[in-house]
Order: sequence, then C-alpha cells, then structure tokens
Amino acid sequence: MSKDLRARDPYAEAWWIKAMVDGIPPRPAGQPPTDEDTFDVIVVGSGMSGHVAALFLADAGCSVVMLEAASEGGGTTYKSGAGMWVPDNSLMRRKGIAPDRGWAMNHMAKLAHPEDYDPAAERLGLEQRAYELIEAYYENGAKAFDELERLGVGLMDFPSYTGDYPAMIEYHNEIDHGYGAHLSPRTPEGRWGAGFQLVKILSDLADAKGIGLRVDHRVTELLEDADGAVIGVRAATPDGDVELFGRRGVFFGTGGYVHNQKLRDEHWPGRLYGGCPVITSRGDFIELTEKLGVELENMGHGWGTQHPVELMLADGEVAEHVGVYPGDSNLMVNAGGRRVVNEKLIYHERSQVHWERDESGGYPNHLLFLIYDDFVAYDETPTINRWPDPKPGNDWVISGDTFEELAANLDARLASYGERLLDYRLAPDFAEQLAATVDRFNGFARAGVDEDFHRGEREVELDWTGPAHAGNHKNPTMFPLDDGPYHCIILAGSVLDTNGGPKASVDGKVLRADGTPIPGLYAAGNCVASAAGAGYWSGGSTLGPAATFSWLAARSLAQEPTRVVGQGAAV
Ligand SMILES: Cc1cc2nc3c(=O)[nH]c(=O)nc-3n(C[C@H](O)[C@H](O)[C@H](O)COP(=O)(O)OP(=O)(O)OC[C@H]3O[C@@H](n4cnc5c(N)ncnc54)[C@H](O)[C@@H]3O)c2cc1C
Repeated sequence: MSKDLRARDPYAEAWWIKAMVDGIPPRPAGQPPTDEDTFDVIVVGSGMSGHVAALFLADAGCSVVMLEAASEGGGTTYKSGAGMWVPDNSLMRRKGIAPDRGWAMNHMAKLAHPEDYDPAAERLGLEQRAYELIEAYYENGAKAFDELERLGVGLMDFPSYTGDYPAMIEYHNEIDHGYGAHLSPRTPEGRWGAGFQLVKILSDLADAKGIGLRVDHRVTELLEDADGAVIGVRAATPDGDVELFGRRGVFFGTGGYVHNQKLRDEHWPGRLYGGCPVITSRGDFIELTEKLGVELENMGHGWGTQHPVELMLADGEVAEHVGVYPGDSNLMVNAGGRRVVNEKLIYHERSQVHWERDESGGYPNHLLFLIYDDFVAYDETPTINRWPDPKPGNDWVISGDTFEELAANLDARLASYGERLLDYRLAPDFAEQLAATVDRFNGFARAGVDEDFHRGEREVELDWTGPAHAGNHKNPTMFPLDDGPYHCIILAGSVLDTNGGPKASVDGKVLRADGTPIPGLYAAGNCVASAAGAGYWSGGSTLGPAATFSWLAARSLAQEPTRVVGQGAAV
C-alpha cells in the first residue's frame, strides 16, 4: 500500500485516452432496407448479444438480418468499457494461469444467490436451474471466446488502471490468482479497445459476412405460425410497419428495461430514477413475451452503480456512471450524516446500500451525499474515473463554507425537487452528525485504517482510487478533509442496465412458466433473466455471459427446423 498514486500519470495509460488516439469509431449506421423479408433468422438488437448471435448464425450458414430500434447500432455495448470476465479462458491458460473451477463456481454462486449459497450442500445450495446457468457459463466461456477469436475478434488482457498491476484485478480478490479472467477486445492497432471499438470489430465482421443491419426498426410484435412457433416479427419504421420472417426463428438481444417507468415501478425494489443504458432499453422483450406465458425472473436486479440525481431527473440516458469516485479526501454519508458503505467499493457493491430498508420499511440510504474538499474539487491530476466533474459551478455540485452552510444548501436543493425525489430531506441534525462523521473519518485517514468500512484494504480499490495527496502512503484511498469549504454531489442508486426478464435455457431458448421452450424464440444478454442473479462477479461479468449465452443460443438456433413462413399471426 505504499504507492504515491498522485505522482503517477494514469491518464497516459488510460484505455479510453489510447482509444481516442486511434479515434472513436462511429456507431454502425446500418444499410438501407431491401425488399427481402425472409431470412433463416431475425436477430433483434445490435449490441453484444445481437452481434454475437448474428455472427455465429451466419458462420453456421444461416441467412440473418439484424433489426435495431435506434437510428444507429451498437446499443449499450458501444458505451461500455468492453471488459469481459471469463473465469476460464485460453489467454490465461496460454500465460500459465490455471483456471480454478472450484473457486469460480463458489464465487459465482455466492454472489448470485447469497441467500441460498452453502458451500457444503449439493449444487452449493442453489436451485437446479440457477446452478446449471452458472455451470454452463463456466464450462462454455472459454469455448465461446475461442470461437470469437476464430471469427476475428482479437482479445487481450483488460489492463490495470494505474498500470501498477499485471492486469485488471478481480473485484473480489480473495484469491491468489487475481488476474487473467478479464478480457478486452484488441484493436487492429494492437491496443485494448473500449465498447465503441468492440462494436466496430463486431460490425465489420458482420458486414464481411453480409449480415444486414436495419436501423429504425423497433420490433413491436411477434408473429406465430399455427403451431405456436415464432416465425417472425412486426417492426415499426419511419415508413410504417413491416413484417419480417425467420424460417428457423427469432433471436432477441434487446437489453434491459431501465427506460420503462412502468416496469421500473412494478419491479425495482425502491425508486429507480433511470440509468445509463441507451434510451432504447425499454424492456420491449418483456412486454412482447407477456402473452406467451413466460415467467419473469431476476426483475429486481441489475448491474448496479450510482448517478447524480440531477442527471437522472433529466429523464433520459445518463452518459456515464460513477465507477469509483476519485480522490482520497472524500466520503459518502446518508441523510442522517452517517457513513454507510466503503466509498471505494466497486460500483455494483457500493450501490446496493441504496436499496436497504430500515425496520419501518423506509430507505435510509435512498440518496447518498458524496462530500469532499477543495483538493478533490480542483485537483487536475488526470484520472480515468473523474465523472461527473466535481468542480463547483456544475449543476450537480452543491457547496458551503461550513458543514452548517453545506447542509442548508443541500436541504434547499432537496426541497426544490419535492415529490420528484419522494420529498426526501436531510435529518435535522445532519450538519452536526456530518461533523462527527468527518472527524472520525479524518482520524481513520491519519491512522491509515478504516475501522468502520475497511476502505483501501482491497487491491482493486488501490487500482481504481485515483489521485491522492502527495505523500499519502499509509492508505492512499483516505486523507483528512480540509476545514472547508465543502462540496457535495447527491447520488442515487442506479444501474448500467437491468438484467431480469423471461427465463431462458442455457442454450437461449425462451421458456414458458412450465419450463417448456417457445419454439423458434431465443434470447440472451440483459433482456433475459441473468445467470448472475444479484451479483456482479467482476469487471466484465455482463459482456462475458452475454457473448457466451448468445453463442450457445446461435448454435442451437441454427439447428432449428425450417418452418413455412409468410403468413404469421401476431401474438
Ligand atoms: C458506461 C458503461 C460502461 C460499461 N462497462 C462495461 C464493461 O466494461 N464490461 C461489461 O461487461 N459491461 C459493461 N457495461 C454493461 C454493458 O454495456 C451491458 O450490460 C451490455 O452491453 C448489454 O448488452 P446487450 O447485448 O444485452 O444489450 P445492448 O448492448 O444494450 O443492445 C441492445 C440493443 O437492442 C436494441 N433494442 C431494444 N429494443 C428493441 C426493439 N424492440 N427492437 C429492435 N431493437 C431493440 C437497443 O436499441 C440496443 O441497441 C457498461 C455499461 C455502461 C453504460
């Protein structure tokens, strides 16, 4: 822990800066639609899941078209860091890092289903289906990514942010081999790539295989044959509705439901104001399959993070997310002025405190308040995670010279939102309690040990923490706050995307409540119930499974019988 992180220049090593050196490729624009309306398979959605399924279907000899609701392709995948967590993969094996099946299975089971997990029990205590999904991911991840490499998707290690570590560290690094599971796309220039480069690589491969992408095609209905098999879709386009048919079936990779207020209100365990997936993540697949007798699962879960409330209340797609807020002289408190979480925990884990309930059923941490001093506000040391900009003057920054003044300004801001923030207000003794909390935090920072939340005790926190005061060697994640002025960003619990939906089998078949597959209907990614349950296994544990289960689905879908199409009835 004796690193002077402030002295480093992580900016020069940051993946997204390197990405910009190579230029940010635009989102795929799609091709003008042709008259062709019948294919072997219709793929809906053009993020990771849609592209991977389309590529492997074409590789298996199927004719495919991708339909995309937005005016450009790429989905949320384009915005992502493109980290892909694959606990057994060929790259790590080639480097002599032995995959550890026992560790990985226990790790995934424990985080996905903490209430069921029992290391001594059969299936680690998990229900049959939950265990099978996790096992399928472990067993097939390496195969799927080997196959992606064969198709031309270059891979390399996802890097450490500071460059101090051999590669990205496990988010929960209780294991010796904390490296090797995080893959990243390798650009043609040989650099690691972000989401926009991943999409460019996938869409170039799709173009080369003759897979058409039709943008501005929002699928609004499923078409069934007389036997109840899904044989096509109806899509809304700027020129009116069109019907398209898939002789073997239809695959959905349409993302989650964040931008559907009704679904959020029905399923999220508390008020969710929005998130940062693309605005077309409206849960269409959930609503389309309702009439087919599916059973929804995992609907109250997602890939958690935090967002400033000001950006969420704008009611749109938030650009980025708070990975780990940079700086050492900062802390988060709730409306009672108390710390409730290790502020340097990785986003998903940190976000979970927002949904905790107190004895009276209320949400004591509905909003958290990121408090920091001038060092954090004005420090110019480049770092990858400084979002949103902490400088006073930004809409989301509230300041005060003293704790009392900060509390008054904060409470006035909350009051101005009224019902939009559920009339949430600070406790009357917030300023007093905040002063006591900062005093205690400052003591821990001076000692270098956070007795309450163990901040800075995981290596991944050191890699992500960002700039620290010069000479802060004891614990570079903590430093006493100055005497003021103080600044604050109000944070709400949020998601990169939700990950609940209809159940699908390990090979992507969408299941009815009785467990039988709906013929011809396949799906993967955030539009179906995730194998990850409540967990976020590590950086990239959304895209790794999305690719793996899309590969499995494509293999199965390519084997479906060809059906007579052309006259489907809308479901
Ligand atoms: C800032 C940020 C960083 C992230 N970093 C990472 C990371 O490093 N690693 C990781 O694993 N995950 C990361 N994620 C999460 C990851 O991006 C998503 O979980 C993943 O991209 C989801 O892939 P998908 O294929 O399921 O959906 P998407 O990529 O969202 O694709 C779904 C597509 O379906 C389209 N669609 C929706 N409805 C319809 C319809 N009715 N008709 C036609 N098309 C439709 C959408 O427009 C969209 O293009 C990040 C997310 C964000 C926002």
